[in-house]
Amino acid sequence: MDRRSLIKNAGIAGVLAAGVAPAVHAQGAAIRWRLASSFPKSLDTIFGGAETFAKKVSEMSGGKFTISTHAAGELMPAFGVVDGVQNGTVECAHTAPYYFFGKDETFALGCAIPFGLNSRQMTAWMYEGNGMKLMREFYAKYNIINFPAGNTGCQMGGWYRKEIKSVKDMKGLKMRIGGFGGKVLERMGSVPQNIPGGEIYQALEKGTIDAAEWVGPYDDQKLGFNKVAPFYYYPGWWEGGPELDVFVNNKAYEALSADNKAIVEAAAAFAHVEMQAKYDAKNPTALKQLVGSKTKVLPFPKDVLDLAFKESMALYAEISAKNPNWKKVYDDYANFRKDQNLWFRFTEARFDNFMQSQKL
Ligand code: CA
Repeated sequence: MDRRSLIKNAGIAGVLAAGVAPAVHAQGAAIRWRLASSFPKSLDTIFGGAETFAKKVSEMSGGKFTISTHAAGELMPAFGVVDGVQNGTVECAHTAPYYFFGKDETFALGCAIPFGLNSRQMTAWMYEGNGMKLMREFYAKYNIINFPAGNTGCQMGGWYRKEIKSVKDMKGLKMRIGGFGGKVLERMGSVPQNIPGGEIYQALEKGTIDAAEWVGPYDDQKLGFNKVAPFYYYPGWWEGGPELDVFVNNKAYEALSADNKAIVEAAAAFAHVEMQAKYDAKNPTALKQLVGSKTKVLPFPKDVLDLAFKESMALYAEISAKNPNWKKVYDDYANFRKDQNLWFRFTEARFDNFMQSQKL
């Protein structure tokens, strides 16, 4: 290479350094977010949803966009995460939206309501029905944009110290229950209690409460409820398919490049699929072990489900009459649920019923 071309090349390098490099630098600037979870690390499947989301964001961005995940209580209390995202204290959170039904019942529709959609139907409503559009309209009031990021599938109906023989046994029953189901239990004459996960075992053991629901076999086994309450009922009619969401502060989201927005969406979708897969894969082993340690697994009597259903529908009519936010979303949700149950009763339910009655 002669002197002239060396100078020429240096000149080009100089232009590149002055003109292009700073632009590349600005676009590639590191992004650091914090995520507040509503869950403890011990719930590896649910807390793991946030970890998977963060890991995928980092991988897809080549490490340029990282999110630190914080368990409930680390940055803010479990139930403080909506305020945290709304105020921009954190850029995002991972939570079960129904925890916030006290702010507005509509939050529950983005997660689970008694006798609502199952896991697959909820995903269908969100991605292919009007669910995402309607919930985003609602969450915008809280400066939030949501991304589905997990589902537990239908939960179990919880642990009972005594057998439930009929709906009469629900009267006066003191039960720990999360989410929206307590409102229906109250109407059935039970006494719902709000007790944090770490204190349920002791309350059940002492008899301060008569029953407690948590999630399903995999999570429940870790808390040891079978040692103090032998009757394990199904189904958890108040949580047919609760969805977990990543809530992102809308300003933080709007500040992202188009690439990073797509990364957030894809990472959440990956976490969404993975959580349900984990629960489906892990629950059978835990259930077998629970049955092996003398747990009595029983279906709720039909009159319990019938009354719970009736009271749930009456509750939704009451809320629809007084909360326009709820009514707008619930009307669409209810129509979608009707069609989903019309469809699922045919080939899906028939196939499942047949397969589950075979000796494999
Ligand atoms: Ca539950």
